[in-house]
Amino acid sequence: MSTDPNCIFCKIAAGQIPSRKVYEDDDFIAFHDINPWAPVHILLVPKQHLPSMVEVGPEHAALLGKMMSTGPRLMRELGVTNGFRTIVNTGADGGQEVGHLHIHFIGGPRPWSKG
Ligand code: 5GP
Ligand code: ZN
Repeated sequence: MSTDPNCIFCKIAAGQIPSRKVYEDDDFIAFHDINPWAPVHILLVPKQHLPSMVEVGPEHAALLGKMMSTGPRLMRELGVTNGFRTIVNTGADGGQEVGHLHIHFIGGPRPWSKG
């Protein structure tokens, strides 16, 4: 599996940098965002280093499908019962700050600081 030793999310996925983890399997990890917009804000991050959605191909379909279908269950387990936002920022103009693909799941009672 390809990883990047300089990538912060590769380091979190490998347990080299601590995070508030909510889920982990062989393919991806979920943890609380360090700067949450809302009462619950988690990031789902593949363990392999994929820079962004631009690099995603058909070979990643099962991985992305698993992440997208696990996120709602994790939000429910974290007490989110009234909806959430799902966001993937891609590239500079897409507002992507960390160059390792991640899916934001953001929810909980409003108001939120953004969004
Ligand atoms: P982006 O703008 O790239 O879609 O979002 C990156 C997200 O990663 C931001 O919401 C930011 O708060 C979060 N983040 C950046 N560095 C860390 C970190 O070291 N730990 C955690 N838990 N979240 C981080
Ligand atoms: Zn990475």
